[in-house]
Formats: sequence, structure tokens, C-alpha cells
Amino acid sequence: MPTLDAASHAQSVWKEVLEYLSRLHSPWVRQWFGELVPLEFAGGVLSVRAATTIQQQYLTGKCRDVFNEAVQAVTGNLVTVSFITGANAGGGLARFGDSYDDVILSPDYVFDNFVTGPCNRLAHSASVAVAEKPGRAYNPMFIHGGCGLGKTHLLQATCQDILRRAPDCRILYLSCDTFINHFMDCVQNGDMSEFRYRYRHVDVLVIDDIHFLTRRDRTQEEFFHTFNTLFQANKQIILSSDAPPNEIPDLEDRLVSRFNSGLVARVDKPCYETRIAIVAKKAKLRGITLPETVVQYIARRVESNTRELEGAITKIQGYAMLNGGKYDMDVARSALGDIIPASERVVTVQQIVDAVTKFYNVRLADLQSKKRHKSIALPRQVCMFLARQKTRYSLEEIGGYFGGRDHTTVMHAIRTITDHRNTDPTFAAQLERIEGTLIPAQAQSA
Ligand code: ADP
Ligand code: MG
Repeated sequence: MPTLDAASHAQSVWKEVLEYLSRLHSPWVRQWFGELVPLEFAGGVLSVRAATTIQQQYLTGKCRDVFNEAVQAVTGNLVTVSFITGANAGGGLARFGDSYDDVILSPDYVFDNFVTGPCNRLAHSASVAVAEKPGRAYNPMFIHGGCGLGKTHLLQATCQDILRRAPDCRILYLSCDTFINHFMDCVQNGDMSEFRYRYRHVDVLVIDDIHFLTRRDRTQEEFFHTFNTLFQANKQIILSSDAPPNEIPDLEDRLVSRFNSGLVARVDKPCYETRIAIVAKKAKLRGITLPETVVQYIARRVESNTRELEGAITKIQGYAMLNGGKYDMDVARSALGDIIPASERVVTVQQIVDAVTKFYNVRLADLQSKKRHKSIALPRQVCMFLARQKTRYSLEEIGGYFGGRDHTTVMHAIRTITDHRNTDPTFAAQLERIEGTLIPAQAQSA
């Protein structure tokens, strides 16, 4: 046991650490930091107890540098902070060891911090139901929608709620990239039995951004068998993706039908009222108070997705720190003044090329070549169509860029794509998906 003195020393240093963070790194601060307990300050280490394993892993994995900076600044010595957990701290995720970049759950991503609205109600209530009865409510659960709309938040909230009820539940949560890399390494090293054992002996398998599984035949094959094994054993499978199953390019039909066999829920962009509630919730989580007018200003100004809403709060926090910690409309205006409303923003040709080449798996050099094969001609036409729609370049300029073609070629491309979109719903959805990834550049100045 630390002595009384050591404990009270730890407490006073910890208090200063938290004050330092609020003053100089306020976007890092969370309301739940108040639950952390300083234990002792000895041997150059300030030991702090976290309430849960998830908090401990998050603090150690994501916040160590900023806490170390703070404790060094307030003590003037080269010391560090170490986060530990008590005996009954609750479960964490099943892990692979250090060689894979396993996901660290964020204590912020729980149901209590998720705001529901018409945009996400089904996805939210399905997640809650799955967390209550893994393997028995909806299996698989498949959540899809655009970038920054809360898919990862819901997946992590589901995991944390399951662990709260059943700390020993074996949950494997990973990004699709980790699954692919792990699979390829195991194939290379002839470790397939170990791979299968890992994936097939879990209670819940969660894979975020499963759309990255496209065009990898052997990985799809392996995933298909993993899926079946778990499904037949009534183990819960949870997936997220940027598109619904049948619009993920090059996904095998048998996987599409498996994904569609459970509950498929979409998350949409939040409406104004939901954005207001999200800003208020995020401010509270960060321990700051924003006047109602500032909350409304942010919600009006930032309409694209929730991640940007959070970015806006972070920006305002940065400006407020320079203004003696005051959160008012002046601070909000200077922080967000250079955010141009979505309707006035522009996309660059480079962004269009990046999105289209990624989607169709072609190279820019092909698009600019004379090749006329359909696998090249279609992406090239999509580029021309989007460039015309989303940039201010002329038909001549666009034609010139894509392989020295003249303006009639560009007009033809625009007509072809428009017709195609009006008659082929699958193509229309693909086009919409490509457009969805084109995030307009934020202008640098007002
Ligand atoms: P996605 O995985 O869909 O790209 P994330 O889950 O990473 O999006 O969400 C981006 C950010 O927006 C996260 O910080 C998340 O907490 C927040 N967010 C998204 N939707 C909501 C919501 N309905 N309520 C509260 N926060 C949200
Ligand atoms: Mg995500």
C-alpha cells in the first residue's frame, strides 16, 4: 500500500495534470477522466487506476504521450504516467498479440454517447438488440452508410455493451485490413490451422469496413468458411461497410446473400435537429459548455457528416484556448469562418481521378491513354462526367486532360453516363457511391 503521503502527493500532481490538459490540450479531455484514481507517485511513475480494461487500453494506447507531456510539465522532471486496472475491471477484446494493429476500443463509443434520429434509428436499435442477445437477435448484422456517420461507433458500442454484461465473452473486433493481412501472412507461413482456430473459436466476430474484401478471391473464400462456421454455431457476426451488400464491387454472390440474410441497416446523414443533439452531446463528453447559439451555428455550418461536426468542435476548442477558454460566437466564427457550406465547395479533378481509379481498379495512365476497351472507357467517361459536374473546367480542358480528346468526346461521355444512370439502378448506385467519397476541399481562406 502506498503511504498516505505518497497518495496525497499523487493526488495533487494528478489534479495539476488534468488542469494542464484542460488549459493546453482541451480536445483530449473527457468527462470520464474524472473517474480515474491516482494511486501513487513513486520511482518516477505516476500510477493511475482506470475503471475498466477498455479505459486502460485506450489511455495507454492513445493518450500516453499527452499525459506524459503534462506530468513532465507540471513536475519539471522526466517522469511518466502509467495506467493500470483493478482486479474486477471488466473484459477486453480477444487479441492476436502485438504484431497486428488490433483495434483499441474507445470508451467514448458507447450507446450512451450515441444520438439517435431518423438517420440511424434502425441501425441503433438493431445494435442494442444484438448486444442484449448476441447470436439470437439478428445474425449477421450488417450496417452500411457513408463515411463518418457512426458505423464504427455503433460497432464498438455493441462490443462494449456485450462485454459489460458478459466480461468473458470472446469478441474478436478487427478491421478488414487486419483480417486480410493476417490471412496472407498465415498462408505464406503455412499457419492456416492456427488462423482458423483463431477466427472460428470466438463468440462474436466484428469486422469493420468489410467492403475492403473485394477482389481478393482467396480471402473471400476463407471469410466465407469462417462466416459459415460461426453462423452455424449461432455465434454473432457484425459487419460494417460503405455500401449495401449487393453494391460492393466484386463481392461473391454467395457472400452477398449471406450478408443479406440477417439484418441490413443503413445510416444516413444526420438532419439539423440530430446534428444539434450530437454537438451538445460531444461538448458534454469533452467537459465544455457551449452556448445554444454556438451549438446551432456549428450544426448549420457543418452538414456533411458527424466526423466533421466533431472536427468543428475541436477547432473551436483550439481557438477558445487562445481566448482564455471562452466559448462564444466570436470564437466560433473565427474558428469556422473558413468552412464553406457544402453547396459552395468544389471538388478537384485529382479527387475525382483518385475515387474513380480506386473504384474501378484502373490507373490514371490508362484513362489518359488511347485504349478504348470498355473496362477503361467506362471509368474514363465517369471521370469526364464527374469533372464536368463538380469542377469549373471546360469541356475542352476536361477532354485534354483525359488523353487529348476533344469536347465532343466529353459531351458524348456525359450523355452516355446520364443515360446509363437513368436506366441501370445498379450503375446509378455505384455512381452515387463514388460521388459520396468525393469530399469537397475546404477552402483555406474565407
Ligand atoms: P464511420 O465508421 O461511419 O465512418 P464513425 O463511427 O467513426 O463513422 O463516426 C465518426 C465520428 O462521429 C465518431 O467520433 C462518432 O462518435 C461520431 N458520431 C457519428 N454518429 C454519431 C451519433 N449518432 N451520435 C454521436 N456521435 C456520432
Ligand atoms: Mg468507421
